[in-house]
Formats: sequence, structure tokens, C-alpha cells
Amino acid sequence: METYAYYADGRWLEPAGGEYFDSENPYTGKAWAKIPRCNTADANIAVQAAYRAYHEGPWGRMNPSERGAMVRRLGDAVARHAERLAEIEVRDNGKRRVDIRPGLSSWLIDSFYYYAGMADKFEGAVIPTGRDQILNYTRHEPYGVVAAITAWNSPLLIAIWKLAPALAAGNTVVLKPSEFASASTLELMKAFEDADLPSGVINTVTGFGAEVGEPLVTHEQVRKVSFTGSVEGGARVAGLAARTIKSVTMELGGKSPQLVFDDARLEHTVHGVCGGIFPPAGQSCIAGSRLLLQSGIYDDFVEKLLEVTARARLGDPNDAATSIGPIANKAHFETVLGHIERARQSGATLACGGNAVNPEGAGGWFIEPTVFTDVTPDMPLAREEIFGPVLAVMRFDSEEEAVQIANDSDFGLAAGIWTEDHRRALDLANRLEAGTVYLNNYFDACTQSPVGGYKQSGYGRENGWEGMRDFLQTKSVWLSTARRIDAPF
Ligand code: NAD
Repeated sequence: METYAYYADGRWLEPAGGEYFDSENPYTGKAWAKIPRCNTADANIAVQAAYRAYHEGPWGRMNPSERGAMVRRLGDAVARHAERLAEIEVRDNGKRRVDIRPGLSSWLIDSFYYYAGMADKFEGAVIPTGRDQILNYTRHEPYGVVAAITAWNSPLLIAIWKLAPALAAGNTVVLKPSEFASASTLELMKAFEDADLPSGVINTVTGFGAEVGEPLVTHEQVRKVSFTGSVEGGARVAGLAARTIKSVTMELGGKSPQLVFDDARLEHTVHGVCGGIFPPAGQSCIAGSRLLLQSGIYDDFVEKLLEVTARARLGDPNDAATSIGPIANKAHFETVLGHIERARQSGATLACGGNAVNPEGAGGWFIEPTVFTDVTPDMPLAREEIFGPVLAVMRFDSEEEAVQIANDSDFGLAAGIWTEDHRRALDLANRLEAGTVYLNNYFDACTQSPVGGYKQSGYGRENGWEGMRDFLQTKSVWLSTARRIDAPF
């Protein structure tokens, strides 16, 4: 068993309460690491370190080009430690290795390089006020201390989407990874030691939302909260942050629709739809978990979908031949099975899957790729985020009906449209209520392009120019060149 410490003020610390909790390998179901169970005292140490680093250390006053060079060094550090980071990410959360190396890890590195370059390019503006003797201009300034709270499904990626722009913008950060997958974020801190940033600029506390997350969110010295997680968690955090009027970014859940029209290319689309949910076992915020099929293609599509799904091989996430890895933790494994059981009783038809399995006798938490057909839009299966390998298939006749069903959701994270009629694709892209729309593809993303939600999927954006903007506030400065100011009365 590996025992981790948490990281604050440039030091590795024991949790104030002296307690640890186990982190389990989802492939084997066995505990492999002990993670510090931090509490309010630890949150205070980390926030105070970040506050000092911002207000008293060099970071807050640093020349932006110099800060950009330091952020670039974080990217170099990730590149040097990419193998170790990938190894721990797979062991701790069951992500398939092929999804991390080389693609994901080069994305992590590129994020630092991208935002490093942006550090000295965020220009203010001279505002045309119409006043002769006034110069009014804007500056974009950091918030100070940022609390970055992340989910378990992709710990490193989510952390870096926040860290790279927050730091490039000039903030200091306290990270809190999910209690279900904290180890890779702590390993990231080890990697960052190579970059030799001033103490307190980056800190990580670990533990549970109520015990260490809430003290961060309510801390007066934290001025910005960037949260990735469930709608329930987000609503609680936004409410707590409101007490001290903090700026908040929310990256929350989804129930993303995939609309397939009669004219879509069958095989190509089946591959895209399957790839849009099953490889990460549905544990992606943008998983295309609602499949809307036009009546003319319905039967052929379902037949082909089942044929392709049957080929999926569940197993070791380190094995390149594995198509679907495990569910990332036991609690969530049980939640997904609960959803499947309720769906079975709802009147939908279980077309394939639905069972927990134990491939390779590993002992971990695996669920077969599961397809329910004859789903109607009112069923919980069509409305609730399952965040597992469960696809709900519905039928529609007209474009209007497809848009109506697609938008009839509390969520609005992503959507896919599959059609050879590009006029229709572009028209529907405008009409779907989602932060990301894919036309004849699904699941792509990159550092340069913003992601985020509509409706209860959240607000604010990560990645791209907007990802940096989210960590800056605007100041308006008024300078007068008037020779005198007349008495007001
Ligand atoms: P969660 O809401 O249970 O927890 C997320 C994080 O918030 C964890 O670190 C947790 O400890 C912390 N937390 C929970 N309650 C808290 C509180 N009261 N105060 C402070 N912190 C608190 O979510 P989860 O189960 O870890 O993640 C899965 C969810 O995340 C899914 O809904 C998924 O769609 C969503 N997600 C969204 C995106 C996106 O970019 N939109 C990306 C990945 C995951």
C-alpha cells in the first residue's frame, strides 16, 4: 500500500486529523493507496498558503511573460512524468491506458503550453467614453485564490483544464480532487516539484466534499470556485459560494442526445454512437446516452448497434485490446446497477447487457454495455444521468419531434446529429440546447475549443480563450486630464 501526503505551501503534509482513507483499483476491486482525509484545518493551511503566495509572494505581481514561462515549465514537468501519471490514473480510476497515452497526456501538456502563451496576451481596451478629458481603459486581473474541485471520471484532465488557465491568469490555486480518485492529482503535485514554482502557488488537499470541500468553498480568502461534478454537488457548492459572493464556474452532468436521421450512413454512425458512450463505460460528462432514431432507420440501426456492441471486450484497462474498462468505483457501480434495475421495470426493452460481470476474474467493477430500446421520453432512463454504459434508444418521425425530444431535458451539455443533409445539420445545430454540438462525429475536444453546459449542465467555459477569461475579472480605470475639477456645490 502506498501512503500519500497532501501538498500545501510547497510541503508534503500529514492530515491534521491523522486519518486516511483507502483508494481502490477498480480493475481488481482492491485497495492500493491511503489518501489523507483532510479537514477544515488542512483546508485553512492550503488557502492561507495560496493567499500568501498571491498577496505577498512574487506570483501576484509577476511580469506575465515570466509567469507564462513558469506555466510552460509545468507542461514540461507533465511531459517528463507522463508515464507515471498515466500508470497511476489507470490504477486509481480504471481509465483505459490507450485513452491516456499518448493522446490525453499530450493534451495535458499542450494545455499548459497553450495557456502559457496566453499569459501575456490578454489585452485590455481603451473605451470610447465620448468625454474629452478622460482616459478610460480596462485591465483583466486575476481573482486571487481559486478553489478547484474536481470529479473522479478524468481527474488529471479536469484538474489541468482548471489549473493551466487559472495560473496563467495569475491566480494561485487550491485543488481538491474527488475522494474516489485522488492519487493521480497528488502525483501531479510531485511532477510539478520539478517546475520549481514559488511555494503556495499550487496546493492540493484531499478528502470528502463535506469535510474539506466545504471549508474551501466558504473560505473568505477564496475568491473563485471552479467546480466539476454532479448537478446536486454543484447546486450545493454554488449555494455555499453565494454566501461570500464568489465567482463560480460550474461544469456539471449531462444526458446528451444523439439524433440519427434516415439518411445517415449506417455503419459510420453506429461506430460513432457506440464510441460516444461505451469506451469509458459511459463515465464521461458528454456521453451520448440518449439515442434518437428516425423511424425509417430504427430497426436496421438497432440490429447493427447490437452487432457492434457484442464485439466489445471488457477487461484490463492497461491492455490495448480492451474496449471497455471498469466502473471507476464501487459506490458508482452499485448506482449504475440500480438505474438498470429500475429501467428493466419501466417498460423499456433490454436489448443487450444489463449485468455486472467479472472479466478475466480480476474482481473489479464491470458492467456490460447495455442497450434499452422502446424507451419513451418520460421514462427516468431517458431523463436521469446514469454516467454508466447504458444507452436509451427512442424513436422519432420528424425533425420537429427530434428537436422537441432532444431539448426536453434538464441538461444541455452536448448533442450529436447524424445526417448527410448538411443544411439540416447546421439548422439543427442552432436549435439544440447544448454547449457542444457534434455533426457526423462525437466526442472530440481540444485545448483551443471551449466546453461547457447549457441549462443544468452548468455555466462558464473551460478551454480556449473563454477558459482563461473565466479566471479573470475586469477593472475599469478612469484617468482625468482636466486642469481643475469644479466644486460640486
Ligand atoms: P460530485 O458532485 O459527487 O463530486 C464532485 C466533487 O465535488 C468531488 O471532489 C466532491 O468531493 C466534491 N464535493 C461534493 N460535495 C461537495 C460540497 N458540498 N462542497 C464541496 N465539494 C463537494 O460528482 P462526481 O460523482 O465526483 O462526478 C460525476 C459528475 O461529474 C457527473 O455528473 C458528470 O457528468 C460530471 N462531470 C462533468 C464534467 C463537465 O465538464 N461538465 C466533466 C466531468 C464530470
